[in-house]
Amino acid sequence: MTKEQKGRHSNRYRYWYDKVYTKEEIKDYFHEGWNDLIESSFELVSYFPDAQICSAKRCMGMLHMFAKAEDEMVMHAVEGVLWKIERLSSKICEKCGQSGQRRTELKVVHCLCNNCYLIHLNDNDDPMKLFKKGREGRF
Ligand SMILES: [Zn+2]
Repeated sequence: MTKEQKGRHSNRYRYWYDKVYTKEEIKDYFHEGWNDLIESSFELVSYFPDAQICSAKRCMGMLHMFAKAEDEMVMHAVEGVLWKIERLSSKICEKCGQSGQRRTELKVVHCLCNNCYLIHLNDNDDPMKLFKKGREGRF
């Protein structure tokens, strides 16, 4: 995998695996800031026939959810919903739910407000290790 591919964001929302996570499991996996978004996603997707959210991950500091649906057109619509949720998550602090921004200078990108970002850095003995090479302290 080249450096460029590693940082690239995939727009696939389709679910390929067998394990399906519940809404509560997904909420537990993340901090509380995105709980409302996860709640809205499950509600919206529940309106679609035979569609279901299966899993989620943090991708480039955004909430990326996976779903499956029986019907192809329904799946396209669900992907649209999940894409919008993902865009919204890029402006919401994943820890507290306040307005936040993606901290792309970090090796593991998180979406955080200023307060939570400081706490995140202070939680580490050597915060400089959290930054990408050459991006240290550029926030
Ligand atoms: Zn916050």
